[in-house]
Amino acid sequence: MASVLLEMRNITKRFGVVKAVDNVSLSVEPGQVLSLCGENGSGKSTLMKVLSAVYPYGTFEGEILFGGEPLVAHGVRDTEQKGIAIIHQELALVKQMTVLENIFLGAEWAKYGVMDYDNMYLRCIRMLAQVKLDIDPNTRVGELGLGQQQLVEIAKALNKQVRLLILDEPTASLTESETAILLDIVNDLRNHDIACIYISHKLNEVKAISDVICVIRDGKHIATRAAEGLSEEDLIRMMVGRELTELYPHE
Ligand code: ADP
Ligand code: MG
Repeated sequence: MASVLLEMRNITKRFGVVKAVDNVSLSVEPGQVLSLCGENGSGKSTLMKVLSAVYPYGTFEGEILFGGEPLVAHGVRDTEQKGIAIIHQELALVKQMTVLENIFLGAEWAKYGVMDYDNMYLRCIRMLAQVKLDIDPNTRVGELGLGQQQLVEIAKALNKQVRLLILDEPTASLTESETAILLDIVNDLRNHDIACIYISHKLNEVKAISDVICVIRDGKHIATRAAEGLSEEDLIRMMVGRELTELYPHE
């Protein structure tokens, strides 16, 4: 039996009377890529904010197990320490700071001891190489394109020895070639046993990288399917909950 890295059980998140996430369960194995699909407003980001403790323990219903243990996280720092990193659609790098400074920002200094600049520089180069970025670590982040910034965020997550990387619509503002690089990197995470939850409504991307596809609609879990053999038509049907002929009656 394959081991399980993450289990979210019966998660419900309410905003007042609105259930943004309604009794959703999902699980992820080490090195697995799970895509979370659903229309705008279906609850994808909210579910991932529960997982990463943007919405901390006690503000939602249900249970999360990570590495076989209950995940009780009071904030994003707690989940980061456990090896969960989330990259939101709105990037969170400090534009005035350099790539190197950003990559080590918030890193657990104790773990690195008194790491000197030369070591940080070398480690930074290694992290950038993992995301196929050939840039000077001393470049200010504000001078980079959005695609490069996205990759720096991933390098930063890898620097923290992440076990689960959550990407929330990472390609929304990327060019085609930047998107191709990002998809390559996500595919490569498997070789490092890093799991990924990938949020996108671009079905060609989802098909290209996923092992498993989880569909939610109106906050509810609709289906979890192996990506292989799943047609785009079936996926859209599950996402919108209607036959395509009803949506596009003249096609
Ligand atoms: P998705 O990421 O799938 O587009 P979201 O998780 O952002 O969906 O939103 C799910 C639902 O919850 C939407 O109806 C949205 O309006 C609502 N929602 C999200 N965040 C909040 C919030 N902070 N306060 C109130 N309602 C929210
Ligand atoms: Mg969203």
